[in-house]
Amino acid sequence: MRQFFLTVIGCIFSFVVYGQADRWQQQANYKMNVDLDVDTHKYSGTQELEYFNNSPDTLTHVYYHLYMNAFQPGSMMDVRSRTIDDPDPRVRDRISKLTPDEIGYLKVNSLKQNGKPLKYKTVGTILEVELSKPILPKSKVKFNMQFDGQVPIQIRRNGRDNKEGVAYSMAQWYPKLAEYDYEGWHPDPYVGREFYGVWGNFDVKLTLDAKYVVASTGYIQNAEEVGHGYGGFKKGKPKNGKLTWHFKAPKVHDFTFAADPDYNHKIVPMENGPELHFFWKKNQGIDENWEKLPDYLIKAIEYTNERVGKYPYKVYNVVQGGDGGMEYGMLTLITGKRNLNSLVGVTIHEMLHSWFQFVLASNESLYAWMDEGFNSYIGNEIERYVNGKENAHASSYNSYFYVVKRGIEEPLMTHADHFELNSAYSIAAYSKGAVYLHQLSYIMGQKTFDKAFKRYYEEWKFKHPNVHDFIRVMEKESGMQLQWYKEYFTYTTKTIDYGVKNTFVEGDTTYVTLERIGKMPMPMEVQVTFDNGDQTTYYMPLRIMRGAKEKEIEGNWVQLEDWPWTHPVYTIAVPTKGIKLKKVEIDPSMKVADVDRSNNTFEVNYVIEKGAGL
Ligand SMILES: [Zn+2]
Repeated sequence: MRQFFLTVIGCIFSFVVYGQADRWQQQANYKMNVDLDVDTHKYSGTQELEYFNNSPDTLTHVYYHLYMNAFQPGSMMDVRSRTIDDPDPRVRDRISKLTPDEIGYLKVNSLKQNGKPLKYKTVGTILEVELSKPILPKSKVKFNMQFDGQVPIQIRRNGRDNKEGVAYSMAQWYPKLAEYDYEGWHPDPYVGREFYGVWGNFDVKLTLDAKYVVASTGYIQNAEEVGHGYGGFKKGKPKNGKLTWHFKAPKVHDFTFAADPDYNHKIVPMENGPELHFFWKKNQGIDENWEKLPDYLIKAIEYTNERVGKYPYKVYNVVQGGDGGMEYGMLTLITGKRNLNSLVGVTIHEMLHSWFQFVLASNESLYAWMDEGFNSYIGNEIERYVNGKENAHASSYNSYFYVVKRGIEEPLMTHADHFELNSAYSIAAYSKGAVYLHQLSYIMGQKTFDKAFKRYYEEWKFKHPNVHDFIRVMEKESGMQLQWYKEYFTYTTKTIDYGVKNTFVEGDTTYVTLERIGKMPMPMEVQVTFDNGDQTTYYMPLRIMRGAKEKEIEGNWVQLEDWPWTHPVYTIAVPTKGIKLKKVEIDPSMKVADVDRSNNTFEVNYVIEKGAGL
């Protein structure tokens, strides 16, 4: 019934994408017909693109990404890789050495807007298009394109003949419309990092040598014709030795496929979940690990369905390809010659991107940490709750502490392409991004945080949430003010450091003075231990939070007056009639990213009686 209602609404307001968006977003529906020649590694295709301008703006230009052009000597990606201080070892100077038949390219041969030819210019990895007629707000236009491409030798993520011998890893292979949102166009040149795409539906026909097995984003439409594990191969006969594969993918912002003549293709249906497809090469001695992989993946999907929200597509593909692990719509490309731990780890990480990057499609270039970091956080939680690993978040904290100590940290809000170092980028995105969430669960309290996180998924799925959208959901669910947290931890590199300054006794009270040494304030939890073994935890919310979390530990819990961030010290009065204070410990949960934990524990070895004349 609900489905019917949404469909009706969808028809009436056909320019509103996927329900009740709080913010308008564009829609791009692709219809492509592509022929890939496995002898020359060249492909040609047609693309019909139905583009909905749901914005309040009149568009005079559009931009397409032509990612394949990055794999040419002298490209921005090539020069960037040869001049950055810590180049990706997979790239280094390899692009500069590509010969004409090894490079990648994507050439647009013709482009029409509603049947009329357009003027366009290819500038590196971007196609700049001048429209013959502006696209008015809330209107639709059709672009028709013919293009030719060449698949490069695999250098980074996509390409042919990767180091494990996979024939084609076809990611970012077609002319892909750039996203236009409330911040304007995002025609970011490709230098080997992040992506951002327009939501839409894909209808793609791929024609290639009939010997090849194809793994792809979307749902196969002609399983019986293609066979290869999808269907019985009853109806169709290859024409000229070629087969056409037809896939449809609804509600995605990317379309990726891989092809190899020697793929195993195993299908594992999941109860209350997607049909899992595994593609790995035969005769590489990796069958045993790949056969074990589905069980681990199923557990991780079940956990994430519960913890975040339900995986919304009907299939998920794990495909040997690429050069490590990379996430795409309904699919991941991963290298397959790994020990079981590594195979499981990389698969789960990439699969988690189905939630963070795919369904919650934040602009990765601007907010890489909202997909890599959020992903790492849930990955750590899976380690903890599914695999029983203690201190599952410790390595994220330690990596963050490392960039702080080395003095190479840049704010999380730095554009992914513009970090000085690859290492500073990765640690910001993966590690500090994970710490961001784990620490937020400390501020809000775990229960409230968990509820809020599910709400974030529900409210922002199939949209492009940004950091403000995220923190607003957290505020609404917790009733706390949290802008300060977003500002300090994402816009700045200010660090957290609290310490115990001193203790002194006066009558039946022991006073414990804490000091804020770091520039970033945090609510504080301090656990005191008495000489009889009793313990009490004191909790001081920050005044700017305008709220406090609920008690979430066993044992004595005392909430004190809030701590204004302007005040460098705070003194706690601990009743010590007949007992003595033995130990004071700041942040016993270790959820605070305190960059100097050496001053967090204070052993009370002696007591100075105030006024005792010492
Ligand atoms: Zn990732």
